Amino acid sequence: MLRIAIQAKGRLNEDTMALLADAGIDVAQSKRKLIARAKGFPIEVLYLRDDDIPQAVHMGVADVGIVGLNEVAERGMAVDEVMRLGFGACRISLAVPREVDYPGLQWFEDRTVATSYPHVLRQFFADKGIHADIHEIAGSVEIAPAVGMADAIFDIVSSGGTLVQNGLREVEEVFYSEAALIARQGLDDDKLADIEKLKFRFNSIVSSRGYKYVLMNIPTALVDRAVQIVPAMRSPTILPLAAEGWCSMHVVIAEDVLWEKVERLKELGAEGILVLNLENMIP
Ligand code: ATP
Ligand code: MG
Repeated sequence: MLRIAIQAKGRLNEDTMALLADAGIDVAQSKRKLIARAKGFPIEVLYLRDDDIPQAVHMGVADVGIVGLNEVAERGMAVDEVMRLGFGACRISLAVPREVDYPGLQWFEDRTVATSYPHVLRQFFADKGIHADIHEIAGSVEIAPAVGMADAIFDIVSSGGTLVQNGLREVEEVFYSEAALIARQGLDDDKLADIEKLKFRFNSIVSSRGYKYVLMNIPTALVDRAVQIVPAMRSPTILPLAAEGWCSMHVVIAEDVLWEKVERLKELGAEGILVLNLENMIP
C-alpha cells in the first residue's frame, strides 16, 4: 500500500483533495487525524505542513507526496518528480522598492535581500556571480523593505497584487513553480506499479482540464468542412441520424478557442450544439 503526503491545510489542500476525489480516491478529511485510509485505491493519506513534505518523501515516511516545486527546490532533498499537476502555479521573484531605478542584476551586489527561500536564492546568486546578503525570515517578507530590514525581497508571486500593495516591483523571475507529484527514490516494484496507476489517473484528469466535449447535428454534406474547423485527437466521431442527410458530430475542443470554433460551426450550418464538461481524457 502506498502512503501519500499532502498539505493538511493551505493553498494546495483544496485542489489536492479535488484531484484525489476525481481520481476515485475517497478520503474522509478529519481535521484531527494525521493519517487516513482511503477507499477506491490502496493508499493512505498523511496530512502535513507543505514544508515537511519533501523530507517526508525523501526519508520514506511517505512514498509519494503532492507539494509545490518551490518547496522541493528549497528543501534540497533528493526525490523524483513524477508529474506536474497543473495547479498551485506561482513564481519566486526578486522585487525591489518601486522607486528604485533598476539597472539589472548587478543592483543586488552587496544589498540585503529578505526571503523565506534562502537556498534557492543563494544558488541563483552564485550562478550569476552576485554577492548579496541573504536575510532569512519566515513570514511577511514583503514588508521587510518598508521597515528597513532589507533592500529587496525574494518571494512568491502569483498575481503581483501583494507586491504592489507594499510598494514593490518585480524585477527578476527566478523560479517557476506548480504542484507536483513527487516520489521517494529507489522504491520497490510493487510501489512503482501503484505509482504508475496513480499517474495514469492523474494524467487523465490533468489533461482533460481546459477542454469541453461538444456535440452537434450537421448536414452530412458539410462534415468535411466542419472537420477542418475542429481537428480532433484522432478524428471526430460522426454518427448518422435517423433524418436523411444529417449526422451527429462529437469533438473535444480546448476552452480558449471554444467560442470561436462554435460560432464558425454554427455559421457553417451546425445545429443543436451541446457543450459538455469533460472529466477524464484517457489517451
Ligand atoms: P503550511 O502550513 O502547509 O506550511 P504555507 O503557509 O507554507 O502552508 P501556503 O500559503 O498554503 O503555504 O502555500 C502552499 C503552496 O502554494 C506554496 O508553497 C506554493 O507552492 C503555492 N502557491 C501558489 N500561489 C501562491 C501564492 N500566491 N502565495 C503563496 N503560495 C502560493
Ligand atoms: Mg509551509
